[in-house]
Amino acid sequence: MICLGIEGTAHSYGVGIITNEKKHCNVLANIIHTYQPPQGGIHPREAANHHVTYADQIIKEALTHAHLTLPDIDLISFSQGPGLGPCLRTAATAARALALTLNKPLIGVNHCVAHLEIGRGTIPACTNPILLYVSGANTQIIGFAEGKYRVFGETLDIGIGNCLDKFGRYVNLAFPAGPKIETLAQQGTTYYPLPYTIKGMDVAFSGLLTGAQQYISRHKPLKDICYSIQETTFAALTEVTERAMAHTEKKQVLLGGGVASNTRLRDMVKTMADERHAQFFVPRKDLCIDNGAMIAWLGYVMHIHGHTMTIKQSKINQRYRTDMVEVTWYA
Ligand code: AMP
Ligand code: MG
Repeated sequence: MICLGIEGTAHSYGVGIITNEKKHCNVLANIIHTYQPPQGGIHPREAANHHVTYADQIIKEALTHAHLTLPDIDLISFSQGPGLGPCLRTAATAARALALTLNKPLIGVNHCVAHLEIGRGTIPACTNPILLYVSGANTQIIGFAEGKYRVFGETLDIGIGNCLDKFGRYVNLAFPAGPKIETLAQQGTTYYPLPYTIKGMDVAFSGLLTGAQQYISRHKPLKDICYSIQETTFAALTEVTERAMAHTEKKQVLLGGGVASNTRLRDMVKTMADERHAQFFVPRKDLCIDNGAMIAWLGYVMHIHGHTMTIKQSKINQRYRTDMVEVTWYA
């Protein structure tokens, strides 16, 4: 079975095509085009305009890459939420149009669950992980328990990527600032204390962001502040991930989201996993960031487990929470 998935929750528009090889995911194409704001943050309507402009081209590119044509597609899936309303609508509209034109089933999926399922789908050893999902807008610690994906911990204010990007904007680093902060942090030598906010298994970053900005206004070296931001935020994330693993007695940890590219975060989480005799997994980079292949894969998994959706039911949901999904396929 071949599924085409459309991702459009925020700044990226992605079209992925997957097929199954027994129980695992074979990615045939995964084309991603990211909206870059000329300055400042992402304006939802401008990101949506970007998606509309590129939708047709990216779908064609994905088909070409997979050596397929539209009639070869058996199922269409799209990111139903959570995300920015105008962006979600562009992905949903394109998916509905394709499904109706091709007379093929349509399925809307939860974006956060897709980040977890693509790890399980493409890494055979990864069967029952705690996911540390670290992206621009989202920061969540997710795991399966009693019929649902539960959010054991999450940010109480901004996502970790958003924290990095906001700091970057303050010091004139272009969006996305995460990779630039990573490079600067590697040159840092002095640790400056920053607020380390954990409540239960939740985290918060806005106090830390203000603290980091204050160091900059007091002319502390940028490389040292980047280093201190990474050490503090990543240690907090690793700590709550470990707590979720201890609570659920899970022996696997999976990273997902754009910030999962960061080598310092990977090192910290891997060290924690090693010390717990647990396994550590990261999907390949184009499957960590927002992408259409993970949407296609989750669409496929839900479809073969009997999930169906009418056009009427395919309304987007900006606040589609991870634990609203009835997970009937976990094994
Ligand atoms: P996503 O929202 O999942 O597409 O991921 C985008 C976020 O990942 C942005 O906030 C980026 O700044 C961040 N990001 C990308 N690469 C890195 C990196 N190497 N280190 C830290 N953050 C990163
Ligand atoms: Mg994401």
